[in-house]
Amino acid sequence: MARRRALVLGAGGFIGSHLVRRLKAEGAFVRGVDLRLPAFSPSVADDFHVADLRHRETVEAALADDIDEVYQLAADMGGAGYVFTGLNDAEIMANSAAINLNILHVLRARPVERVFFASSACVYPARNQTDPRDPRTAESSAYPAEPDSEYGWEKLFAERLYAAHARNCGTAVRMARYHNIYGPEGAWTGGREKAPAALCRKVAEAADGGTVAIWGDGDQTRSFLYIDDCIDATLALMRSDHAGPLNVGSEEMISISALALTIADIAGKRISLVHEDGPVGVRGRTSDNRLVHQVLHWEPVWTLQAGLEVTYRWVAGQVAARAS
Ligand code: NAD
Repeated sequence: MARRRALVLGAGGFIGSHLVRRLKAEGAFVRGVDLRLPAFSPSVADDFHVADLRHRETVEAALADDIDEVYQLAADMGGAGYVFTGLNDAEIMANSAAINLNILHVLRARPVERVFFASSACVYPARNQTDPRDPRTAESSAYPAEPDSEYGWEKLFAERLYAAHARNCGTAVRMARYHNIYGPEGAWTGGREKAPAALCRKVAEAADGGTVAIWGDGDQTRSFLYIDDCIDATLALMRSDHAGPLNVGSEEMISISALALTIADIAGKRISLVHEDGPVGVRGRTSDNRLVHQVLHWEPVWTLQAGLEVTYRWVAGQVAARAS
């Protein structure tokens, strides 16, 4: 059988670099494209284009020879400090929309068998996420649409672009709505880091008996999915027959304060939480895995505790290396 040829867009990013590693381990030829090489370890892609996907030539070059499947993870993206302040909205919407429009424009002329699009839990309506104990994120609840961020609106628009492409061009399109993916080799400083990595960094920097700052009252809830589970679900979805978007997340919901204290416990430090103003997003969010479980028979295997232990060790290593 011919070797499968995969194109990973956003291959320099957190999820993209882990995905490249998995596809290579399975024996595929992998081409990566990103504005940058992976930040923490060299890419194992067979071919890597450092280029801007807002430029159509970048997409044309990436698809210039035979590609069987495209994984589209490139986006202007970050944690709450980047997407929920409102300060980056224009950039986020214009950059990610330009990337997705370019990709689909080129794919109309150069069809591939399968396309994966990384959507987000941020598409879900704000009105269903006001109770931290009972957020609603069933896939069908995305409409009537009311995402709480422009990042979420762009993802919803992009889902519709990819779905329309599937209908009109006959390509198999697969879409995951990722819920807070975390693990080693994700952004941990610089303003784009998400809550688990940011809190691992703050705990690693804190003295035993010291303080850790939390944005808001800390009662806001989330669930977090370990990167290995995310890659398993992504590949299972890509290889399935399911056409609509599926949640890829964990149902292990925890408050942000409890998350910080769990990390401190892993670090073996006693800390006190200090609450400060900051962008917090919706009051509650967790993954509703009923449909993904039914369709893919997939469920996360990593507990939050186990994933945080690995992630804390990695972030603490980064903090120590920076200090030395
Ligand atoms: P990431 O920021 O680490 O990766 C995204 C990559 O896209 C980056 O390496 C960035 O350089 C690249 N990129 C941005 N603009 C580009 C451009 N113009 N040309 C080429 N490359 C460009 O983020 P991630 O956590 O790996 O997320 C991957 C995908 O999954 C994104 O689409 C994101 O929106 C989605 N997602 C992630 C999460 C999560 O928790 N990590 C949750 C929901 C959705």
